[in-house]
Amino acid sequence: MPDAPLPTDAHVVVLSGAGLSAASGVPTFRDAHGLWEGHRVEDVATPDAWARDPELVRRFYDLRRVACAEVDPNPGHAALARLQRALGPERCALITQNIDGLLGRAGAVDVVEMHGSLWRLQCEADVDHPRVPVVGAQRRDARCEACGAALRPDVVWFGEMPYDLDRIERVVTGCDVFVSVGTSGVVYPAAGLVSVARSVGARCVEINPHPSGGRFDEVRAEPSEVALPALVDAWLADR
Ligand SMILES: [Zn+2]
Repeated sequence: MPDAPLPTDAHVVVLSGAGLSAASGVPTFRDAHGLWEGHRVEDVATPDAWARDPELVRRFYDLRRVACAEVDPNPGHAALARLQRALGPERCALITQNIDGLLGRAGAVDVVEMHGSLWRLQCEADVDHPRVPVVGAQRRDARCEACGAALRPDVVWFGEMPYDLDRIERVVTGCDVFVSVGTSGVVYPAAGLVSVARSVGARCVEINPHPSGGRFDEVRAEPSEVALPALVDAWLADR
């Protein structure tokens, strides 16, 4: 079963986390003590930190953005983009917790970036105001076109609600195969989504060199840049 081609009408959902981008060398900005410039990352990526010291928060994301521009998608990203091209985006939903944009750079479309993106800014006053693309460091005088408020990274911080939860619930409810890649299957949101997928009878696959112990039908204890190209080859063998 694991290596059987995918039925032509199957709906696939792939949830990816940090493990998908690990082989690209995306820097974590944590020193040996888990700190960035003396701060816990969890204390920089918060609405409170933004209110207290926006310059610190901007600098943190500027550094991450500049560093991410230096890395490339890896074979795991490419395999997911290839799967999506073969099935069509309506039958292959790619949901990611990563903010690095690497799935898009690999050719994936309509990626659900549930934690936002390094490559966009948003109005700090109104989430419905237009997003602003950004490359390199954020211009300090950049303002929201709609209302003139300051622009903040379009990234979901600790204590904020992930994006597109309704859409995510909808696609997972409609899927036949749910794949969790490089993210813990026992921690929110992966654990909750696996439960939803199981409840609709979907086959649940985990790809993680350190399996989470979550409730999956199939576990591949390999890095995603190894497991995903092989899995996608097998799934698309007859096409
Ligand atoms: Zn605004």
